[in-house]
Amino acid sequence: MALASEGMTDCLFCKIVAGDVPATVVLDDSDWLAFEDIGPKAPVHVLVILKRHVADIGELATDPAAAAALVAGIGSVAAHLGLSSYRTVFNTGAEAGQSVFHVHAHVLGGRSLGWPPG
Ligand code: 5GP
Ligand code: ZN
Repeated sequence: MALASEGMTDCLFCKIVAGDVPATVVLDDSDWLAFEDIGPKAPVHVLVILKRHVADIGELATDPAAAAALVAGIGSVAAHLGLSSYRTVFNTGAEAGQSVFHVHAHVLGGRSLGWPPG
């Protein structure tokens, strides 16, 4: 499984993987990286990304091994932080709020979360 970063030079999250942009790392796996969101929307707001550049869920859906790795990362973060309740969000497309086009899971917790989201 080739999940190492391909180093897209114009991608913010590839720069974080490469260490060119600093981030507060929560967990670091060979296939995925978890780090704190710079603009937290809850007491816990962690982003989980693949180290290899994958743009969005649509692209991730073509690579089941990568999808499994990302889900494993989400579960590992929740266990690491002792979260019993949390929300996982993938914004897909600009209209849904995606601003960084390197697929990432938002892991939100530490407070009550309303439903439905806006
Ligand atoms: P999206 O809007 O694409 O679903 O989520 C992108 C997330 O990346 C946002 O929640 C935003 O706060 C976060 N973000 C943007 N720039 C940076 C950065 O330089 N470092 C970190 N750690 N998070 C960032
Ligand atoms: Zn990228």
